[in-house]
Amino acid sequence: MIPARYGASRFPGKLMKDLAGKPVIVRTYEAAKSTNLFDEVYVVTDSEVIFNEIEKHGGLAIMSQQEHSCGSDRIAEAVENMDIDVVVNVQGDEPFTDRESLEKVLAVFNQADADKIDLASLMAEIDDWNEINDPNTVKVIVDKDDFALYFSRSPIPFPRDKNVDVKYYKHRGIYAFRKEAIMDFYRLPMRHLEATEKIECLRYLEYGKNIKMAVSNSGSVEIDTPEDLVKANKMLKAKEVSKPPVNDKYRNFPMVPKVVYGPGCFDKLPTILAKKRKEKAPFIFLVDDVFENNNEFINRIPLRFNDKLIFMSAETEPTTYQVDELVSTIKSEFVNLPSGIIGIGGGTLLDLAKAVSIMLTNPGGAADYQGWDLVKNEAVYHVGIPTISGTGAEVSRTTVLLGPERKLGINSDFTPFDQVVLDPDLCIGVPKDQWFFTGMDCFIHCVESLNGTFLNAFSQSYGEKAYDMCLDIFLHDTLTESEARGQLMMASWHGGMSIAYSQVGVAHAMSYGLSYVLGIKHGVGNCIVFQFLDEFYPEDVKIFRKMVEKHQIEIPQHVCANLTEDQMETMISVSMGMVPLWENALGKDWEHVVTRKKLRNLYSKM
Ligand code: NAD
Ligand code: ZN
Repeated sequence: MIPARYGASRFPGKLMKDLAGKPVIVRTYEAAKSTNLFDEVYVVTDSEVIFNEIEKHGGLAIMSQQEHSCGSDRIAEAVENMDIDVVVNVQGDEPFTDRESLEKVLAVFNQADADKIDLASLMAEIDDWNEINDPNTVKVIVDKDDFALYFSRSPIPFPRDKNVDVKYYKHRGIYAFRKEAIMDFYRLPMRHLEATEKIECLRYLEYGKNIKMAVSNSGSVEIDTPEDLVKANKMLKAKEVSKPPVNDKYRNFPMVPKVVYGPGCFDKLPTILAKKRKEKAPFIFLVDDVFENNNEFINRIPLRFNDKLIFMSAETEPTTYQVDELVSTIKSEFVNLPSGIIGIGGGTLLDLAKAVSIMLTNPGGAADYQGWDLVKNEAVYHVGIPTISGTGAEVSRTTVLLGPERKLGINSDFTPFDQVVLDPDLCIGVPKDQWFFTGMDCFIHCVESLNGTFLNAFSQSYGEKAYDMCLDIFLHDTLTESEARGQLMMASWHGGMSIAYSQVGVAHAMSYGLSYVLGIKHGVGNCIVFQFLDEFYPEDVKIFRKMVEKHQIEIPQHVCANLTEDQMETMISVSMGMVPLWENALGKDWEHVVTRKKLRNLYSKM
């Protein structure tokens, strides 16, 4: 039930304001409906305008017959003659009420103590003192079984000793009521505590009802002011691009169709490309500028006709801006689409090559495609040739880019390379630290995949092999240098295959925060984070430390020491935003374990 009053005092008519092409209330309705959690979804309203709008969009609406002082009363009137077990209230002005929160508030009715529950609601941990002290934020305390003890606008509990480790939770206004509970509320008069604090749900406690609280830290945006609406319009856009695949249980996963392996196999490239050359259409070679003065290597690149060689720096993480620039250079210089794009280098160059090949055939800018399955047109033929191993970028379905608003991959069926050339000899000359940082990306992919809740036999088969190879390479002294190069190249491939069907985990979620705020490169960021993850991957962190010591690697220290409060908050938000990664690492209830406070503590150590 979505109670919807037309005349909100602070922002009149807000529910009918436009939110990315539809009225706010329609957005809320569709969001609730699309969770598939409910048998029916209704808007209950006092306004014919809202009623008609919902019907026009094919939704169900009910007109209230009476004046009501609050949303619960409006719902109670509507459900009085309906045959229902549980009714959930969704706020009309919260168009982003997410499936996860609603799922959590409903899940409590399937637990062992369900008989005792009259209604359920949500709480989210808060750790900012301003928010804890803010009377507009309602705090809640619970007993050992998460039943609410009290709600208040004061900070509860009061910490007598300021250093005591206490958690604060704010109340989120989403409820799931048993029908009797909401009908009682309708009939029973308000009492002292409710009148004093002006908190509706105190009425239930005052009449001895049991309110079960579930934790949900995912954010919600209420639309209370015109500024909120502007923010919501932006958020909706962001949400639409970053929605992970709905059906990710049986993913139909694209693979690289052609791959050649072996020391020296780079020289097969002319033969491979000859078959793909189209008339007057050049091959564009994007090459890491570390090779710029390496004539011996440059001479092996088969440039013919109007082919073009572009050197790119891998100094910084690849950006959507770089991709757009490259595409516009290529388009302005050549009338025909290129025969192909060849990326030669580490993860950075491979990702640039994948993204450029996509953007040559798709309109707009690269940032428009950051997310899952947003690419419409098949990419230009593209070839990946790694010169350093570990990222798995040569085999993955994504190209990770730093955009104006987020660091996120262009994840699509058109992203994987059409051809990969795996020549371990190209990795000769990688500096030791870099070899380690990129190699550890592979080790960490395996650890996160193998310890994740998404693991299946497909991922496991690749993950275990790659994990063992990493130990041989970085821990045991059993391989010659040249053997180790070949092994690491294949470990990278297998590690990439392993996460393709599962997901990465805690280290990546936190490392993305470091990259986004401080521009720290992926491999280094992973290592900075991983050493502090004993709680999540105890045995593997021990092994990791041994490998660091054995190879005498200096991992950057204290990178978070001088963060501003804003930066820290952003870092935590970026990390918490990687929901699929946390879910893989810790399961659906990850928010019980990972709180903003915990991440702050961890980041402070780095
Ligand atoms: P990189 O491409 O950033 O290169 C790291 C350094 O190694 C650079 O200075 C580069 O010049 C140098 N280098 C590369 N080959 C060399 C050689 N043969 N000799 C000497 N120096 C050489 O490193 P990376 O760790 O391979 O890639 C990191 C990037 O990969 C990040 O941007 C990350 O986001 C991305 N990534 C992508 C995926 C994916 O699936 N698409 C997965 C993981 C990481
Ligand atoms: Zn990685």
